[in-house]
Amino acid sequence: MTFATLGLIEPLLRALETLGYQTPTPVQARAIPAVLAGRDLMAAAQTGTGKTAGFALPLLQLLTMEGPKVAANSARALILCPTRELAEQVHASVAEYAQHLPLTTYAVYGGVSINPQMMKLRKGVDILVATPGRLIDLFRQNALKLNQLQTLVLDEADRMLDLGFSEELANIYRMLPKKRQTLLFSATFSDEIRSLAGQMLNDPLSIEVSPRNVAANTVKQWVVPVDKKRKAELFVHLMRKGRWKQVLVFAKTRNGVDALVDKLQGLGINADGIHGDKPQATRQRALDRFKSSEVQILVATDVAARGLDIEDLPMVVNFDLPIVAEDYIHRIGRTGRAGNTGEAISLVCADEVNMLSAIEMLTRQTLTRKMEPDFEPEHRVPDTDASGQVVKKPKKPKKPKTSGGGGGKRNLGKWVDSGDVAPAEPSIKPVRKVPVFNTGPRKKK
Ligand code: AMP
Repeated sequence: MTFATLGLIEPLLRALETLGYQTPTPVQARAIPAVLAGRDLMAAAQTGTGKTAGFALPLLQLLTMEGPKVAANSARALILCPTRELAEQVHASVAEYAQHLPLTTYAVYGGVSINPQMMKLRKGVDILVATPGRLIDLFRQNALKLNQLQTLVLDEADRMLDLGFSEELANIYRMLPKKRQTLLFSATFSDEIRSLAGQMLNDPLSIEVSPRNVAANTVKQWVVPVDKKRKAELFVHLMRKGRWKQVLVFAKTRNGVDALVDKLQGLGINADGIHGDKPQATRQRALDRFKSSEVQILVATDVAARGLDIEDLPMVVNFDLPIVAEDYIHRIGRTGRAGNTGEAISLVCADEVNMLSAIEMLTRQTLTRKMEPDFEPEHRVPDTDASGQVVKKPKKPKKPKTSGGGGGKRNLGKWVDSGDVAPAEPSIKPVRKVPVFNTGPRKKK
């Protein structure tokens, strides 16, 4: 099967070719024709299955082929996401797919000034990606009207409820036109999600695909706590101790990639790097040499590694944790494929504790920590667990405090869209509120 046989138009096919997508993933193969046919969708699909293109491609096609031009302060399609990071990521993908289309796209989320967002919305946008709280703010301030909305996408609906957005979703539901297409994506289908779907969807097509990238039990994952300044030394130590042969290493920044590659090459280790500053041809060459084992260690940023077709690998190392928690799943999904076993090791310093916590919350697991002798960190990495809590050991008392203090918990800082969490929540601990969707008759289109 190809994207052309799914009925996608030429400008989309051209964008996909540039991105190197050759074959539709299972969720894309099922979702694209259904969305093009105007159906509502209830899809069980996790990050890593290609779900974003599954809804974005047909959505872009429908908006190009049908409907009036977008009016001022309006949106023709709305994609709701639980966090600002996901909103940014989804928006980046949508913009890539739309690169040859005459459509406008934009992302809005809390935690940043609302004024530029209001300005941008003045002319209207075809596709708006938003987190729930900020969307409601913009609507209440008359910066956004939703009467032209033809499609609503709820992305990661389960996480939206986990983060306590059920009330916001109920409010948004009341703001929407009754006649619309609704696409709901969720990794899990709890009673709350089914209730939400029952209220919002009309005769939906159900799609379920097994996740491609979710940490299979075949991937052994663990964390080595270490001080930031000793990460490179620890990496070389572990590499030699474990006699690693082929390792894909992820670093956070382009400079980080270059610095590590220089260090490794300086020690006579066969390493190369790929990042966004390098031309595509150079990246491809580095990748080819890595695949053919001419290069032993390939250091990459997330952006550079995304979409690259890297076959199954024995080992992935997170030299830095990813800024977006979902990228952790993409990264470790490079190993342990097709029933093979793999290892995914993260070198984590104290600064990265919130990222670790967000990853554990997303993957609903507490990662095992293994201290490496002689590399025990001076700056302790606070305890974390899958609930999203970061527990700091109480410090030795210095001076008596007059205010604040207490509370071993910390919120997830930048990791969750704090601007979008209901003000009553003291921290961004996942909360499961009683959904408000189980009352009243279901509205028909
Ligand atoms: P998603 O599940 O939407 O977050 O996508 C996971 C990753 O797979 C992203 O990096 C996409 O760019 C990539 N991707 C999505 N669809 C395809 C495809 N058909 N072929 C190759 N890569 C894809």
